[in-house]
Parts: sequence; C-alpha cells; structure tokens
Amino acid sequence: MGKLTSPRTIKDLMARYGFHFSKRLGQNFIIDESVLERIIKGAEIGSEDEILEIGPGIGVMTEALCEHAKRVVAIEIDTSLMPILNETVGHFDNLSIINQDVLKVDLPALIEDAFEGRRPKLVANLPYYVTTPIIMTFLEQRIPISDLVVMIQKEVADRILASPSSPDYGALSVVVQYFTEPSIVTRVSKGSFMPAPKVDSTVIRLKVRETPPVALLDEIIFFNTIRDAFGKRRKTLQNALSSGRLGLTKIEAGEALVEAGIPVNTRGEALDIHAFANLANAVARQKG
Ligand code: SAM
Repeated sequence: MGKLTSPRTIKDLMARYGFHFSKRLGQNFIIDESVLERIIKGAEIGSEDEILEIGPGIGVMTEALCEHAKRVVAIEIDTSLMPILNETVGHFDNLSIINQDVLKVDLPALIEDAFEGRRPKLVANLPYYVTTPIIMTFLEQRIPISDLVVMIQKEVADRILASPSSPDYGALSVVVQYFTEPSIVTRVSKGSFMPAPKVDSTVIRLKVRETPPVALLDEIIFFNTIRDAFGKRRKTLQNALSSGRLGLTKIEAGEALVEAGIPVNTRGEALDIHAFANLANAVARQKG
C-alpha cells in the first residue's frame, strides 16, 4: 500500500472496497503531507500524549497520530470505512476505533472508559456540516479534554479568533474565548484535500482553560447577555437587551449598563469578555 496522502492510494482503496465519498458526512480527506506535519507540531504531540480523533476517514491523520502519540481513540460514523481503516491503520496496537456518531455517543462515559480520568487532546479534521455543534458540545458539556486542535472552515475560525469591534466578532468569539485560549496553527487551501471542498480551511488550537477568565455571578445570564447583545447587531445594547431572552425592560437594561459603566448607546460588538462579565453580573444583581 502506498502513502495515504497519495490520491492514487485513495483511488485504489476506493475501488477495492467499493467506497464512495459522502458529501453529507463532510468527507474531504487530507492529501498534503505538510498539513499533517503542521498539525502534529501545532498540537505539540509527544510520546506521552493521549488523543481523541473525530472522523478518521481512511486513516491518514490517524496514522500520523499513532506514530507520535502514546494512544489514539478514533470515532468514525461511517461503517463503510471500517474495513478500510482495518487495512490502513489496523496494525497499530496503540489505536482503538469506535464506529459511532460523536454527537450521539455518551462522551463522558467513553472518555472515562478509554482514558481513565486522564484528559486527552482532541485532534480532528472536522466534517464541515457539524463543526460548531461538535466544538460547542465539548466546551459547554465540559467534556474532560485538554485541547482541541481542529481543522475547520476558514470563516468559522476567523469568527472564533476575532477581537472586539472587528466584523467577524460575535457570540461565538466570546463564548469560545470564555472556555478556551484560541490560537491559529495554520491555514490550509482547498487543494490539500480529496475531493477539494468549496472553502479554505484553518487549523486552530483551543487550549481549554482550567479556571474561567472572568468571575461570574450566573453563567446562564452571561451566555444570554452575549446572545441578546449580538442577536440584534445593529441595535444599541439598551435596545438589544430589552428585546431578548433576558426579559429586561428598557429601564432595567439601562440601569444594568450604567452599573457596569457602559454607555447605553454602545453596541455589543464593542464589548470584550470582561465588559460582558461586568454587564452580566449587573443584570444578575438586578434579578437576584
Ligand atoms: N481525518 C480524515 C482526513 O483528515 O483525511 C477525514 C476527515 S473528513 C473532513 C471528516 C470525517 O468525519 C469523515 O471520515 C466522516 O465520515 C466523519 N464524520 C462525519 N460526521 C461524523 C460524526 N457525526 N461522528 C463521527 N464521525 C463523523
């Protein structure tokens, strides 16, 4: 068998196993060796690391992970890839493959069972159609992992990495920055995949925070404040907060803004995570 990054090897596997790419499952396989090297380096994978991979595909990144890490557990939804994975990476004795949907499996139980209380790094070339749900599931449910090193659509990466007052800044930026310290690993062009997707990609690293970056009185109120503030982007904060899920009157919204030291005609996109925390705490005090 040739290199797994070679289109010829992929075509040969496809022909021998009667496999067809599924667009619905976001199947775009890496055919660029340098991308694998950049991911391994960016994720700082060493011989003591334990890895959870989502969507191994034909096993191109799985192979690189097994060669560098102590242990790899890979979750793949597509049953028709199982015999292929058995041929391409079945010989690694530090690999377990689980044929499941990552969004349906009991993740806390799986991680406890597979890693016995240790926190693996999540490494994945994520399927585009479920990028944000997968990232948010791991963060919001506080699944015990230390990092997420994920290849995602460039536009989503730009939103996660955005700073206040930039066009890409929104609820996703603040919420991901609350749970993690995000950084960019590398940009990847369409031509690095087979089949080539319509969009470019970015690999980002999200280092899960052990302690939150801001002190909150009520986390739910914090998330609702962020969603309300960006739900009506063109509205001032006073108007946005009094027509959303917080259920504040215009006067209450104004009072909370004053207490947080924020001018009432400010827009949500101007607030950094600390200002959002002050505002959410003012709302919480008002409600409490
Ligand atoms: N890791 C391979 C690579 O980089 O070449 C494949 C990446 S491909 C973008 C995404 C993979 O995720 C596919 O193998 C697809 O079948 C799998 N997948 C899609 N949805 C999934 C889900 N809900 N749970 C687990 N795997 C999924």
